[in-house]
Amino acid sequence: MSATNGQALLDKALAGERLSHAEIARLYTLPLPDVAAVAHELRLRRTDPNVVTFLIDRNINYSNVCNVACNFCAFYRTDRQKDAYVLDYEQISHKIRELEAVGGTRILMQGGVNPNLPFDYYTELLRHIKRHHPTIRIEAFSPEEILGFEKFFGMDAPRILDLLIEAGLDGLPGAGGEILEDDVRAKAAPARIKSADWFRILDVAQAKGLYTISTMVIGFGETYEQRASHLLKIRDQQDKALRDYGNGFAGFAMWSLQTANTRLAGKAPGATAHEYLQQIAVARIALDNQPNIQTSWPAQGFKVAQTALFYGANDLGSTMLEENVVSAAGGHGRYSATVRELVRIAVDAGFTPAQRNSYFQVIKYPDVEELLKPNLEVVAGD
Ligand code: SF4
Repeated sequence: MSATNGQALLDKALAGERLSHAEIARLYTLPLPDVAAVAHELRLRRTDPNVVTFLIDRNINYSNVCNVACNFCAFYRTDRQKDAYVLDYEQISHKIRELEAVGGTRILMQGGVNPNLPFDYYTELLRHIKRHHPTIRIEAFSPEEILGFEKFFGMDAPRILDLLIEAGLDGLPGAGGEILEDDVRAKAAPARIKSADWFRILDVAQAKGLYTISTMVIGFGETYEQRASHLLKIRDQQDKALRDYGNGFAGFAMWSLQTANTRLAGKAPGATAHEYLQQIAVARIALDNQPNIQTSWPAQGFKVAQTALFYGANDLGSTMLEENVVSAAGGHGRYSATVRELVRIAVDAGFTPAQRNSYFQVIKYPDVEELLKPNLEVVAGD
C-alpha cells in the first residue's frame, strides 16, 4: 500500500517500513524539517545514538593520467601534458609514513585510468605497501579502474581481483557511483563506467570478501526520480550482498558535484546546503539496510557537515591528509582536516567523537579535553 499523504509517508518510514521508488521520490517534495526529524530518529535507532565517528586516512592518487576524460573532472591529464605524473613506490611510501605518524589506519588509493602502466605496477605496489606498512589497510582502485584493467590486460574482474587480493588489496572504494542512471552519466561523462558495470564489479568484490562502500554525487541536474532510482539500486545490491555473501557495503558516502575548472562549470547546477542536507535525510530513510551514513565536509564545508549530523548522518568521513580530486574541481576550500577539527565538530553538536576503522567500528575514543584545550601560548608569544 502506498502512502498517499506526506504525514502518512513519514509515519510509514518512522515505523521502519520499506519505502517504494515513488515514496522515496515523494520525500523530496515534503518540508525538509519533517523529513530530517524522521531521518535523525532512524539514525539514533540504527547506530550508537551518542557517537559520531571519523577515520584517519589519506587519499593517494598514484597517477593522474586517465583515458576516460569525464566532463566533471579537473584532476585528470593526458600522458602528453606536462604535469602528468605516475608516483613511484618510494613516493607512495613517503606519504604513508606521514599517515602512520598521525595514527592513520588506511589509504584510499586511486588513479586515473592509465593505459600505460603494466599490471605488475599494481601488484608490486600492493606488495611493497604490505611489506613496508603492514598496519595500513589498502583500499584501492575504483570500479572504473578495474574496468580499465579488464580492457588493458585481457582478464575479467574476478581474475583481476584475485591477483590484487593476493598482492595485498583489502578493499575497493565505491567511487564513480555518482548517479547510477545511465541517462545522467551519459551527459556528464560519455565514456564513464555504466551503472551495470559499476554494480557488476562491486558485486564481485563483495563476493570475494573485500571491503566496499556505496556512494552518490548529486548536482548533475538529475531528477528526484533518478535520485530515488540510484538509492533503490544501492539498496537492492546491499540486500543481495548481505544475503549471498554476508558482506555488503560498509557505509554510504554522499557529496555534491564540484565543477570549477571542469567542462561542466556553469552548466551543471551542483547542490546547495538545503539540497545536500535533504539528500542525506532521504538516503538515511531509503537505505534501511545500511546503518552508516557519511557526510562530506570537503564538498560542503565543516558547518554543513556538522548540520548533517541532525539529518541522518552518523559519520564525518575522514581527515584525508591529502585530497586531489574534489579539490581540483573547487570543493569548499579545505581538503584535509585535523583530528581536533573533526572532534570539535562532533563535541559541539553534542556527540561523543570516536576514531573508527574502515568498517565503522570504534577503535579509539580521543582525549577530548586534551585535544580541545585552548592553546593561547602562540598568541601570547607573538
Ligand atoms: S573522474 Fe576518474 S575516471 Fe573520470 S576523468 Fe577523472 S580520473 Fe578519470
